[in-house]
Amino acid sequence: MRHFVGRQCLIIAACALLGLFSGHWLVGLTIGLGVMLCWQLWHMHKLVRWLARNNVEYDDVPEGKGLWGDVFDELYRLNRRSHDEQQRLRAIIARIQDSTAALRDGVILLDEDGTLEWWNQAASRLLGLRYPQDRGQPITHLIRRPDFVRYFEQCRYQDPLEIPAPANVRQFLQISITLFGKGDRLMLVQDVTRLHNLEIMRQDFVANASHELRTPLTVISGYLETLGDHLDQLPRPWVRPIQQMARQAKRMENLIVDLLTLSRLETSQVEYPHEPVNVSALLRQIVNDAESLSVDKGQTVTLDIRSPLQLHGREQELHSAFSNLVMNAVKYTPDEGRIQVRWYQDGDGACFEVEDDGVGIEADHIPRLTERFYRADPSRSLESGGTGLGLAIVKHVLLRHESSLHIESEPGQGSIFRARFPANMLVEIPALRDESTAD
Ligand code: ADP
Repeated sequence: MRHFVGRQCLIIAACALLGLFSGHWLVGLTIGLGVMLCWQLWHMHKLVRWLARNNVEYDDVPEGKGLWGDVFDELYRLNRRSHDEQQRLRAIIARIQDSTAALRDGVILLDEDGTLEWWNQAASRLLGLRYPQDRGQPITHLIRRPDFVRYFEQCRYQDPLEIPAPANVRQFLQISITLFGKGDRLMLVQDVTRLHNLEIMRQDFVANASHELRTPLTVISGYLETLGDHLDQLPRPWVRPIQQMARQAKRMENLIVDLLTLSRLETSQVEYPHEPVNVSALLRQIVNDAESLSVDKGQTVTLDIRSPLQLHGREQELHSAFSNLVMNAVKYTPDEGRIQVRWYQDGDGACFEVEDDGVGIEADHIPRLTERFYRADPSRSLESGGTGLGLAIVKHVLLRHESSLHIESEPGQGSIFRARFPANMLVEIPALRDESTAD
């Protein structure tokens, strides 16, 4: 820079000196300054013209001398670096596009409003999306199924959703959504038709086998019951075996009933909206049934209804879930124990809760209790005539009512089984009298 300024001053001084020799030093100085100004303006013009051009090549930088040469060289280096970086990013994008195009699973990028930004070929194939017409469209306008719209809008994406493919009802798709950035969504679509068909086969097999076993078992139970009514007429060595056979036949009957209930829950569609279910009346009935069993054990069962709210749901299913939890409390609470059944409002939702001061459950078992045939204490469960399917039924019923089961327990201290229902599953009946009474 100093070198450049020095040279400029030298030229101006030379012009002024020439002017002085010819007797017009001011004219010489003006000419010198004018030449310098023109030279600067000419280079600035070259720079502005180059900047104004679109799609300039990185090696198309104008040439110049002195300070302008340095500026143009620096611009050339910057331009080249950014060009190389662009090339590198383009290569990465091309590779990502090639690999996502080769994916068999659909990948869709959605912005925070749920509109389509980008998707791969598999997504087009599986969901029938068209490029570019569907770009910028809300996904819920393209997949209009109520279960998908609900899943998408509720933003509870812990579990995936399974739906029939919009383009082919014989194909089944699993949709998983991940939130990222400022509410943007990444949607993964997988073809799970084979797994779905296997699952249907399994469900059908269990349902058919249970159904087929029911008739012969009813006949066997009938005869055993008749024999049980005439035990005094039977030879003494037959009495115990017949009593044991009757007990085991009863267990098998319970097992078949539970298996059929489970397969009905798995196969029947969830329909919306449900009929309102009067929870207070339902719980009174369940607690009455429980009392008839608990009275022999000297247990106390109390019912505490603190909310008049009703539930959108299927009464039969809710009865099965609530009664399983209450009966379990009776089964797993020793004589003289205390069982409390509650229905109360919690925030904008409502809770059904069963608390007992019974045997309790070790923490390791709690996450697995809703698995089929899982028992925390197998000998105690078999002794109590349990099938090992009760909590699996509870889990399914609650899932179908947008709720889930929460278990708190301490060995030797007792357990709390709680189901929390969201506000959209509740029905307010303002005309109802206040039922906040404890039975
Ligand atoms: P089961 O027919 O064996 O009772 P469930 O599915 O109803 O099957 O329950 C699974 C297991 O959970 C039971 O075997 C028992 O060990 C445990 N369990 C359920 N409820 C209670 C409770 N209130 N207190 C202690 N343990 C319980």
